Amino acid sequence: MKISVVGGGIGGLTAALGLLRRGFDVQVFEQAQELREVGAGVQISANGTRILFELGLEKEIMSVASEPGGKQIRLWNTGKTWKLFDLGPLSVAQYGFPYITIHRNDLHQALAVGIRRIAPDAIKLGMKCVGIDQTSRDVKLHFADGAKATSDIAIGADGVHSVVREVLFGADKPTFTGIVAWRGVIDTKRLPERFHRPVGTNWIGPGGHVIHYLLRRGELMNYVSVVERTDWQVESWSVAGTVEECLADYQGWHEDVHTLIKSIDTPYKWALMLRQPMKEWTQGRATLLGDACHPTLPFLAQGAVMAIEDGLVLARALAANPGDHDAAFHSYEAERKERTTKIVKGAEANLGRFHNPALSDPALAETYVNSEWEESKVRQRYEWLFTYDATSVPVSPDRSRPLMSTA
Ligand SMILES: Cc1cc2nc3c(=O)[nH]c(=O)nc-3n(C[C@H](O)[C@H](O)[C@H](O)COP(=O)(O)OP(=O)(O)OC[C@H]3O[C@@H](n4cnc5c(N)ncnc54)[C@H](O)[C@@H]3O)c2cc1C
Repeated sequence: MKISVVGGGIGGLTAALGLLRRGFDVQVFEQAQELREVGAGVQISANGTRILFELGLEKEIMSVASEPGGKQIRLWNTGKTWKLFDLGPLSVAQYGFPYITIHRNDLHQALAVGIRRIAPDAIKLGMKCVGIDQTSRDVKLHFADGAKATSDIAIGADGVHSVVREVLFGADKPTFTGIVAWRGVIDTKRLPERFHRPVGTNWIGPGGHVIHYLLRRGELMNYVSVVERTDWQVESWSVAGTVEECLADYQGWHEDVHTLIKSIDTPYKWALMLRQPMKEWTQGRATLLGDACHPTLPFLAQGAVMAIEDGLVLARALAANPGDHDAAFHSYEAERKERTTKIVKGAEANLGRFHNPALSDPALAETYVNSEWEESKVRQRYEWLFTYDATSVPVSPDRSRPLMSTA
């Protein structure tokens, strides 16, 4: 079976590698001229590293990742700290695999190395897909430069602004959350010693929160923060703001937050949009994965991990249903919809928690944090995420299995 993947992001590359390892003929069409991800980090929990290791990338990943020993919460103004949970060896003991934080570009390069080891020319760069049409026999992609590519099936892994999704299901209708995200990467050497501990930190405050964690063996610090403001509605990874503007969004916050912001060369800003889960992901010979079909707010840090899970489950479903893409796509959707919908909803719910008005008063905040981040509640929020095993969930041709309705 010849398979086209539109988009060489985290999900598209994972799907391609999973498929190549199962003997499929795969081509990835990426719009960028160079395989280079934006300067930002991503957290990959055990449910994601399980897959990356299964794809043969343990050495490539662990040589560039950081492994936080745990996570902590800090209060926006006083800096009071609460332990959230331990990670490091505990993640491996409990879930079988490490929890890592990694530069997106490092993750990208590791996936590309895995692909090129099997098929050196599988990734085609500078190929912006602008259209897709299909017959009962095949599917054809159209590119901005006039080129075309025909395959048996196509996978739209082209992210939140997916062209494939738009062609198959029409334009989406995002609503602005009223929240803007800032991000930046800092050379750790520029930060005081106290920032060098490998602990993921989540500052919470009324109307905003700040997250930072180490990348690339501790050499870099990833900074992401969000703030409630309604004057900026551009959804893009590459729009730059200024340090002054970012600082102004965190007036009154702890000096550690200001130290971080002042150390960023160029902070980038992104308006966060909300989208309702899609009822269908597949049409005929084409399906979707990752942000193309279930974009999520980043407040459970699972968007990229979901794209990774989708990629492997889809590759397994196609291998388990030889020559029957209908059955494979059905099994894939049946397995993935409920979980990804739950993640989209869970991330939304975390917003109310991270920005709660109770956090403005240190005394109220103490009670609020002790109750909301009580151990059993935290376990309930995260355990089901980390224990999922995409390498063994069912992908058999069971047509009686319902496709969950997300209407
Ligand atoms: C602030 C922020 C922080 C986040 N933190 C985390 C985190 O800690 N952990 C986590 O798991 N997730 C995180 N996420 C979410 C995560 O980044 C996304 O869910 C993930 O990147 C989705 O992967 P994807 O492969 O579906 O799409 P993308 O990574 O967006 O990749 C899509 C690819 O398709 C290409 N493309 C697009 N259109 C076309 C076209 N027409 N033709 C050809 N190619 C095309 C793009 O160039 C890109 O390479 C975060 C998101 C945000 C906004």
